[in-house]
Amino acid sequence: MAKKSINDIDFAGKRVLVRVDFNVPLEGGKITDETRINAALPTINALVEGGARVVLCSHLGRPGGKPDPELSLAPVAERLDEILDTTVKMAPDCVGDEVARMRAELGEGEVLLLENTRFHAGEEDNDPEFAKALAGDAEVYVDDAFGSMHRAHASTVGVTEYIADCVAGLLVHKELDSLQKCRDASGDGFIVILGGAKVSDKIDAITKLLPRAEKLLIGGAMAWSFAKALGKEIGESLCKPESFEAAREILETMDDDVLAKMVLPVDVHMRQVEPDTGETRYAPIDAIEAGWNALDIGPETRKKYRSIIVDEAEIVFWNGPMGYFEKPPFDEGTKAVAQALADTDAYTVVGGGDSAAAINQMGFEDRMSHVSTGGGASIEFVQGDDLPGVEALDEK
Ligand code: ADP
Ligand code: MG
Repeated sequence: MAKKSINDIDFAGKRVLVRVDFNVPLEGGKITDETRINAALPTINALVEGGARVVLCSHLGRPGGKPDPELSLAPVAERLDEILDTTVKMAPDCVGDEVARMRAELGEGEVLLLENTRFHAGEEDNDPEFAKALAGDAEVYVDDAFGSMHRAHASTVGVTEYIADCVAGLLVHKELDSLQKCRDASGDGFIVILGGAKVSDKIDAITKLLPRAEKLLIGGAMAWSFAKALGKEIGESLCKPESFEAAREILETMDDDVLAKMVLPVDVHMRQVEPDTGETRYAPIDAIEAGWNALDIGPETRKKYRSIIVDEAEIVFWNGPMGYFEKPPFDEGTKAVAQALADTDAYTVVGGGDSAAAINQMGFEDRMSHVSTGGGASIEFVQGDDLPGVEALDEK
């Protein structure tokens, strides 16, 4: 299912529409983190150097289908103009006569950034007329925004109906290459680690990955839903009703030999919240008492998960933190798993907003085989779903 990438196209003189991820954090019109801009540079530079007329588009935040000056991409255009060796112009909108004129006037190697696509309801509705206007005069479409490829929006899918060649940018190319290894993996040596707040958010991932994995290690508050569904006392630990229901459904509907591959925490790190003494303690999973809140996996679980990751794994996919990692010392379980991934010889892929952030925070980024920029998109792709934005690209 290899998709064409920008490496397969001659761009000289071509009119190109590039979907990038410029969904950057802004504070008072200032960009507070340039990671996403820097990530897009290799593709943009390749197109500029190849002589393309480059039109960039992206969403930013959730303006709800109408213009919101606070969510303008203008600060990104300004920054890009400083970084790139070519002129970068900012369009007043992403569609319309004025924008069409600016696109037509674009010279080879020049760059135009369109305004926030979500200023129009047609973006998220994937409205054909809006998509056609956004496609404009483009001869080639490049998608380099992996994190949006699980959504069928105008800028990720709709435009491809109106553009002859549709290919992956360098970021997407690398994502597909790395994540395909996890998508194809099954059986011995395929270890999946899932954490995070709710089972209901990951029910598809569990039901699709558990049959394929050698083992699926569970962490995060998700684990307490399973513990409760198995009849254990979990005290004041986080367990949303929808999460509990999802855990019960999985335990009731999946075959026992498949469920046997699910590995749950054997101990916890918990804090007394009623009364709120602030006391913290490790305890076996069977010994959580009323008034206590389990906020992380305990040391025995960390040891057990580490030995599976280091001794058994050939390929690891990890999504979701092991505990309330924003609040030390409850980041220790997540850190221990990150350390194990850094130390194993296995092929390691991390996806998911919070788990990727944890990896970066801890400085382990370079020790992973791949850290995905897509949360929802990476897990859906790995669990075997077809992403609309990927399907829309040309096959090799
Ligand atoms: P991801 O973004 O990686 O997919 P989620 O969004 O599903 O992960 O879950 C991450 C959130 O879950 C984090 O804010 C984390 O603090 C919270 N969390 C995980 N475990 C616990 C826990 N035991 N108690 C409270 N919150 C938890
Ligand atoms: Mg999250």
